[in-house]
Amino acid sequence: MATFETDKEQGTTRVGKLTFQSLPGQSYQTPLYTIYTSRGCIPNLTPDNFKNAIKTDDQSSCIINLNFWDLNENPGEKVLTSYEEHLKQKKSDDIQRPLHSLLNLKDYPVIVNIRDPQFAQQTCQANDKCPYGDTEMGRRKTNPESFNKLMQQMKPELLVPLHDASVHDVVHVSIDLPGKEEQRPSKKILKCVERSKKWISQTSTVPNASNLLFPLVAQTRPESLKQFLDQSELKESYRGVLLGDFGIMPPNKRSALLKACIQEVKATKLSKLPLFISGQDHPYDVLECVQQGVDVFDGVYPFKVAEFGMASIYPLQIQQNQTEMKMNLRDVKFVRDVKPVLEGCGCFTCKSHTRAYIHHLLNAHEMLAEVLLTILFLMVHSHNVQHYMRFFEAIRKSISSGTFEEYKNTFIKNTI
Ligand SMILES: [Zn+2]
Repeated sequence: MATFETDKEQGTTRVGKLTFQSLPGQSYQTPLYTIYTSRGCIPNLTPDNFKNAIKTDDQSSCIINLNFWDLNENPGEKVLTSYEEHLKQKKSDDIQRPLHSLLNLKDYPVIVNIRDPQFAQQTCQANDKCPYGDTEMGRRKTNPESFNKLMQQMKPELLVPLHDASVHDVVHVSIDLPGKEEQRPSKKILKCVERSKKWISQTSTVPNASNLLFPLVAQTRPESLKQFLDQSELKESYRGVLLGDFGIMPPNKRSALLKACIQEVKATKLSKLPLFISGQDHPYDVLECVQQGVDVFDGVYPFKVAEFGMASIYPLQIQQNQTEMKMNLRDVKFVRDVKPVLEGCGCFTCKSHTRAYIHHLLNAHEMLAEVLLTILFLMVHSHNVQHYMRFFEAIRKSISSGTFEEYKNTFIKNTI
């Protein structure tokens, strides 16, 4: 069972906390970033290293985001079944959470989503028969029966039921925005909603899966959302709402649409639940979404920035001076710069290495440089991930102290 409580609310912005029955005594402060994984692993990082590197304060913010298509491929049902047998023989308590044990993520709650924030457009597509997704081994199909079976084995703390997540390209022209004349939804959207309703109903029946996120599909219209929820016997099982189709939407449309969607949710029985969003990870987008009331995020921003040899340096407090978002450590101006990447940052990279050293590694095309930037403690103390988590901490603090608006406005105005 997952529960959500709001600690402080300021307009639509709020600070809250999530708790899970499987992890008693722990709470997870929102707004928060769920840690991105690829094929069940935090990129370049072993779970042990990750655990050692994340400071105690940050442990309270760590929820691991796993991708269903990865898990379906590997470990998959067969491996997990034999692992369960092994745990039974050993009479291990890990049998309660076999997936967490297998991935060495026992200390963290996990969320299983069918959308990969890195490939929001093509992670999960669908035709009339079934949803399908891309994996390392190629395109794979699934169906509600095998999805349920796998989830029953995996026992994630939060679970997104199967739905059609393939309408990003048409959604923004079809939604009824407030004040606009009603437009007829396209056939594609109607089909998407119909399929999704069917699959959500079928995959919300995983025994013991009381922690479902309700996926708001194709920006479901208020009347159809209400109707679906009224008919659904599972409404009591939903523990959150996933706003999923904002991946490639132009920012000028996204803001109005997000507002409209959140209003729709607030008018239903799901109004008190936390709001999750997929694929919105740029700090500007995060601030915008937090302002609208979104609580939980996923994304690959820290890793993507590091891939280009960049270190995040955006401000973590209200700052009146103009500052850059990121620092290009490949730039020749750092060749003799012996300062840390970001002065005052307590991460392993900044404590142990200089800009000149990382510049040298990047230009010498050595692996270590990207490793240092992306992860925390020799593949682990990543400056960017740490900085990103500090960014969410700064957001929480600013909401608690009533200065979020000022933080957001100065951040957007003064960063380049
Ligand atoms: Zn640092």
